[in-house]
Amino acid sequence: MPRVWEADPVELPVLFQLRSQAVICAYCDEEIRNGEASIQENFHRECIVRAVIGSAAHQLGECSCFGGDREDPPGVSAREAAKLAYDTFIWLRRAREHQEREYAD
Ligand SMILES: [Zn+2]
Ligand SMILES: [Zn+2]
Repeated sequence: MPRVWEADPVELPVLFQLRSQAVICAYCDEEIRNGEASIQENFHRECIVRAVIGSAAHQLGECSCFGGDREDPPGVSAREAAKLAYDTFIWLRRAREHQEREYAD
């Protein structure tokens, strides 16, 4: 199984719960519904990416780790911030792939 940051998050296996009990995400504390699970079954797909890769601001090098002051937008839930981080991850990866194609040989 590839490590989560090597796998294509779009293709991460989507686990469907066939349990009677609700499964709560270990990152955002919201229920994981059918089709929202990830390679780690107690995390939403977006939340495991957020937990491993970091916030949108972190990926953009604008958080306190890089001397910046950007964090998750105020008033945004952990789940929404995870979706933002996930979208940023996909966007940055597409941009990098585009750049690699553009400047190949
Ligand atoms: Zn979650
Ligand atoms: Zn950071």
